[in-house]
Amino acid sequence: MSKQVYLFGGTARSQDPRSRDKTIVGGKGANLAEMAGIGLPVPPGFTITTEECVRYLAEGGEFSDELKAEVAAALVHIETTVGKKFGDAADPLLVSVRSGARVSMPGMMDTVLNLGLNDVTVQGLATSSGDARFAWDSYRRFIQMYSDVVLGLDHHQFEDALEIAKEDSGYYADVEMQAEDWQVLVGQYNGIVEAALGHPFPQDVHEQLWGAIRAVFDSWDSDRAKVYRRLNDISGDWGTAVNVQAMVFGNMGDTSATGVAFTRDPATGEKAYYGEWLVNAQGEDVVAGIRTPQYLTKASRERAGAKPLSMEEAMPAAFGELAAVFELLEQQYRDMQDIEFTVERGHLWMLQTRSGKRTAKAALKMAVDMTHEGLIDERTAICRVDPMALDQLLHPTLDPEAARDVLGKGLPASPGAASGAIVLDADLAEKLAERGDAVILVRVETSPEDIHGMHAAKGILTARGGMTSHAAVVARGMGRPCVSGASSVSIDMASRTLKIGNRALKEGDLITLDGSTGEIMAGYVPTIEPELVGDFGVLMGWADRHRRMKVRTNAETPADCRTARQFGAEGVGLCRTEHMFFDAARIASVRQMILAEDDGNRRAALAKLLPEQRADFHAIFEVMAGLPVTVRLLDPPLHEFLPHADAEFAELSETIGIGVDTLKRRAAELHEFNPMLGHRGCRLGITFPEIYEMQARALFEAACDVAAQGGEAPVPEVMVPLVATRKELAILKALIDRTAEAVFSEKGARVAYHVGTMIELPRAALMAGEIAEVGEFFSFGTNDLTQTTLGVSRDDAARFLGPYVEQGIFPRDPFVSLDIEGVGQLVEMAVERGRATRPDIKLGICGEHGGDPASIAFCEKVGLDYVSASPYRVPIARLAAAQAALA
Ligand code: PEP
Ligand code: MG
Repeated sequence: MSKQVYLFGGTARSQDPRSRDKTIVGGKGANLAEMAGIGLPVPPGFTITTEECVRYLAEGGEFSDELKAEVAAALVHIETTVGKKFGDAADPLLVSVRSGARVSMPGMMDTVLNLGLNDVTVQGLATSSGDARFAWDSYRRFIQMYSDVVLGLDHHQFEDALEIAKEDSGYYADVEMQAEDWQVLVGQYNGIVEAALGHPFPQDVHEQLWGAIRAVFDSWDSDRAKVYRRLNDISGDWGTAVNVQAMVFGNMGDTSATGVAFTRDPATGEKAYYGEWLVNAQGEDVVAGIRTPQYLTKASRERAGAKPLSMEEAMPAAFGELAAVFELLEQQYRDMQDIEFTVERGHLWMLQTRSGKRTAKAALKMAVDMTHEGLIDERTAICRVDPMALDQLLHPTLDPEAARDVLGKGLPASPGAASGAIVLDADLAEKLAERGDAVILVRVETSPEDIHGMHAAKGILTARGGMTSHAAVVARGMGRPCVSGASSVSIDMASRTLKIGNRALKEGDLITLDGSTGEIMAGYVPTIEPELVGDFGVLMGWADRHRRMKVRTNAETPADCRTARQFGAEGVGLCRTEHMFFDAARIASVRQMILAEDDGNRRAALAKLLPEQRADFHAIFEVMAGLPVTVRLLDPPLHEFLPHADAEFAELSETIGIGVDTLKRRAAELHEFNPMLGHRGCRLGITFPEIYEMQARALFEAACDVAAQGGEAPVPEVMVPLVATRKELAILKALIDRTAEAVFSEKGARVAYHVGTMIELPRAALMAGEIAEVGEFFSFGTNDLTQTTLGVSRDDAARFLGPYVEQGIFPRDPFVSLDIEGVGQLVEMAVERGRATRPDIKLGICGEHGGDPASIAFCEKVGLDYVSASPYRVPIARLAAAQAALA
């Protein structure tokens, strides 16, 4: 059996790599050993491994004899280093017992300080330290902490007793309590324990130690730790290590102190020491907020206009030592460190170091600064920044200082934050927005007809729909914050009121959405604007140098294309042409086209749409100058374009000269039970070839026109959606080629173009070898591929996928992060089969997964040529693609 206890501090210098391995001794244990190893002042101690925790929990809470022997030997290491004995009546050794898992789980697991005190050793401590007040204060802290953590007693009882004691003596603060006061309180504390448990507080220091070790192990399985693990993707199998370490005291009078510090500012990334400290206090006083901590540096104190002296001013020598340690630790870890320290009678001790948590802004700044300082290289800098965190930088975010009244929660469908008046329909949203009002469009679900309202709104909230629902996809494209699938929202259109949870609201009421967390809040919450300053561009430049895959964008308006290019898009990977038809001015022609009962009527409608489509493509080709533009032919079910209300039918009848009854009958004929699997995609092109022909014509005419203007010729890629068979694609490719040739001969000029298909049905993936005989490129439409492979409707999934993720059936929402195991196999197969037929086939992804870092890593692995993401996700994709290439 391997060793289960590792020593650190003093003369301990373990060569065993397990002693620095976070998976074995936990993050805290590994870093304590590391700090002691480079000669920093670390109080001696030992770490019991995570393996022992796993065994203990599996074997029903038993300690082995081997472990007991190893711990006994390790205690001797501490005793000889410190020169004190555990349980000694005259000069007792006290220890802390703290948890430390592989990754830090702040506040989730247990800690006990001052262990080793009892009714006898407290007297010894009073004498040996020459400070009776300190000894009794430490003892009362220990009883309270141990009773809470190990004995399971409610800490309020102890806090109440302290409050009463202070009141009785007319004291305001703890510091006024004298040695005798603490001693009296200890007596009361012991009484509380005995009354609750029927036996006195444990006096045997070894029993105390094993009780604390047991409590730390048990805390791994506490409810709060389990919840934290679930929220942070931490495995329940890892277990926690236990660190037992000689106590040092920050509460030994005015030359003692304790504090927490960061080597750089974790909020801004600025290279300035940052932290808080307290004179004559123990660690938990700083975090628990019992006393207001003071500033670490003179500069930060002055900036805050605070009076109490900074550590730099009050303890210059110890501060100087601390600053030197900061530099050493940054050199050692090559990252910003989050540190806990204690000064005991002028002597500095390091209690913890770890890579500190930071905001996105700070992460970016530190990565760039540290590269310039030579601390890390470009590759490390690229990998240091979480691509998803860039979201925080690209959109306005809620002011973290502001108060929030949270009404409910939905899916974080499109990031950013926005406040505005609730508006329940798109027309009104547009009208009010034109007047200058900030509005939030709230709908049960959005349909393409709501586009103008979504565009006019500052944010979008829907009661139904998942992460790839219409609302989510469109909102992300537009860069509008969106919370979708908020099932606690119920809308009553008749009274124009709504409920969110149990709160009643009405149209016009102010709400705030946080599309990054899914939170819905009452009233106005202030936001902070993004700042795309220098560091962002620098890091993106480095990422571009290191990535292999190209990054394109999903965009269908010149404005979105422009935004995407600003963010570095290298082409359009998906231009969803149906979004171009929903324009209020065009919808009548579209409806005429769909409802036409004969070819002539349909062609007349198409003739009206042709110049408009051509203008759309023209504008996009101009913006994308010379870059590839993948135009997808019409995809959605036709009935999405149809009128619903009687008034709309009447209006349409008036416009296109077809009777209301005929229109209604046609609309009823087009009704589908399962439109997602119905008459959509290339099935429209097969049954109504004139629609695709019109689109192809508009596209080639625009391409020729733009090429004729000089400058860089566009590179159109015509993409056929929802293909399942080679023949479908062959028929439609022939139509597209015919149309191209017709346009080229009319124009007397040619442009290069490609025809390809989306792979978004399992059959297409299976038959990719054959389909590649016709298609010159594949773009994986992983939204539909996920929907059809899983048999889960992308529009309805939000209602039941939550519990699926909670129960670990899917690690993450498969519409957000690709189901690599399942859907990924189909992608991989299609890549292989497509390449086998056509070695130079161009391969990309344009489902929402193209903006998800984990999915992007998969795309790199299977060798796609590019990923395509909505404009605001382009930077995320650039960084994630670089990280994937470097992995
Ligand atoms: C897809 O299915 O992944 C895709 C990109 O097409 P859409 O979302 O428009 O169906
Ligand atoms: Mg699709």
